[in-house]
Amino acid sequence: MPQVIVIGGGLAGCECAWQLARHGIAVRLMEMKPHRRSAAHVTDGLAELVCSNSFRSDNPHNAIGLLHEELRVLGSLILTAADAARVPAGDALAVDRALFAAAVEGALQEHPLIELTRTEACELPVDAGVPIVVATGPLTSDALAAQLVALTGRDRLAFYDAIAPVLDADSLDHDEMFAASRWGKGDGADYLNCPLDKPGYEAFVAALLAAETMPLQDFEKDVHYFSGCQPIEVIAASGPQSLRFGPMKPVGLTDPRTGRWPWAVVQLRAENRHGTAWNLVGFQTKMRQADQRRVFGMLPGLRSAEFLRYGTVHRNTFLDSPRLLDEAMALRSLPQVRFAGQITGVEGYVESTASGYWVGARLAADLGGIELHLPPATTALGALLQHVLDAGNPNFQPSNVHFGLFEPLDAGPRRNKIDRKLAHCERARRDLAGWMGALGWPLPVAA
Ligand SMILES: Cc1cc2nc3c(=O)[nH]c(=O)nc-3n(C[C@H](O)[C@H](O)[C@H](O)COP(=O)(O)OP(=O)(O)OC[C@H]3O[C@@H](n4cnc5c(N)ncnc54)[C@H](O)[C@@H]3O)c2cc1C
Repeated sequence: MPQVIVIGGGLAGCECAWQLARHGIAVRLMEMKPHRRSAAHVTDGLAELVCSNSFRSDNPHNAIGLLHEELRVLGSLILTAADAARVPAGDALAVDRALFAAAVEGALQEHPLIELTRTEACELPVDAGVPIVVATGPLTSDALAAQLVALTGRDRLAFYDAIAPVLDADSLDHDEMFAASRWGKGDGADYLNCPLDKPGYEAFVAALLAAETMPLQDFEKDVHYFSGCQPIEVIAASGPQSLRFGPMKPVGLTDPRTGRWPWAVVQLRAENRHGTAWNLVGFQTKMRQADQRRVFGMLPGLRSAEFLRYGTVHRNTFLDSPRLLDEAMALRSLPQVRFAGQITGVEGYVESTASGYWVGARLAADLGGIELHLPPATTALGALLQHVLDAGNPNFQPSNVHFGLFEPLDAGPRRNKIDRKLAHCERARRDLAGWMGALGWPLPVAA
């Protein structure tokens, strides 16, 4: 009899099952392939990389490379398999996807505590009376998604994301912007505003309409965007004044330098409590990254903006995790059910693996009677998980890992970009070691 059921044999589900088994817990791993496949999956195997074969930069001075390093230290199956299947790709960790998937599946099949069943979970097997981990990814099957909607409420499970670019605070030119909230609400100065005059607005709209966008996947082609989630280039295409009456409306925003409302305004809102990262409000976009840099770089104050993450809109099933999940990634309303991977609002192969790691380790700790709290938000793993649980964020959207999610560095001498990255990495290594050292690692719960 399994002690835990994991649904979904993607990156998160495989990592989670492995961590549980490694700690002596018997797991049933349910994967719907080959009987049913999402529109993006093409193989019958576990741990399928649905698109690129790259786990992105392996340079530990980038947030993603640091997350690689942390997962290696923590004993991740996915990172071990990726390292073993590595192909040359500069400083990126790219893999031979067939070798990689075979290594993951082989390790799971050989483990005596893991039972692999090839079945679609059309509903949650709550009657089994054991913890369930849902790791069914951005393209969770329809039947299960319908049950999740029933469980969480229609407005707590999204089927498309709408991600606006996030910029590094230190790269903004505040002299060209003004701080103000519309009609002086809140603190009166909660937003940074980039004011545009009429020629500036028209040039911006023209550049936006001429920019190149990412092609839609076949299964995204019949997408009907919810209002409020439309890419800005789609709004711009609906009429020359549409943006001025939409996300760029200037009403209630008096520019202190002119004493008037500008012709149009782009607003930036703090992305985290520390104000180290700011997002372009309502500016979700499917523009290519180079076009985002060029077109948004036309806006006052953003000429040298550094993108911590680029805007995007794609098909993505994800929970409003800050309102639904606790630290163990368990549903507050039904703690028997936990979630891992992209469905929790992390984004990307490595981030989904990291989420699977945490849910497996935490569940093993819970079953072994060990108290285990989140790693500190100074580490890549901790920062990512805290984003997923950030109840202070009313407009939750998925994120990949970037330094804007980390606890800010102590105030000290002003550092350049490279020194800041190095300081983040040094602190993360120290704090991860401290977190692990407090318990001994792997957790002392193996049966
Ligand atoms: C088209 C597309 C392209 C992408 N490209 C990239 C990229 O280039 N780089 C990147 O880092 N990320 C990319 N992503 C995101 C990436 O897919 C995810 O971050 C990652 O795969 C998520 O891991 P996961 O384990 O949460 O979900 P998945 O890897 O999707 O795994 C979920 C598994 O659950 C199974 N499943 C679903 N429903 C059920 C059910 N009811 N019962 C049983 N099994 C079920 C699925 O068959 C699948 O095997 C892409 C996503 C999509 C949709």
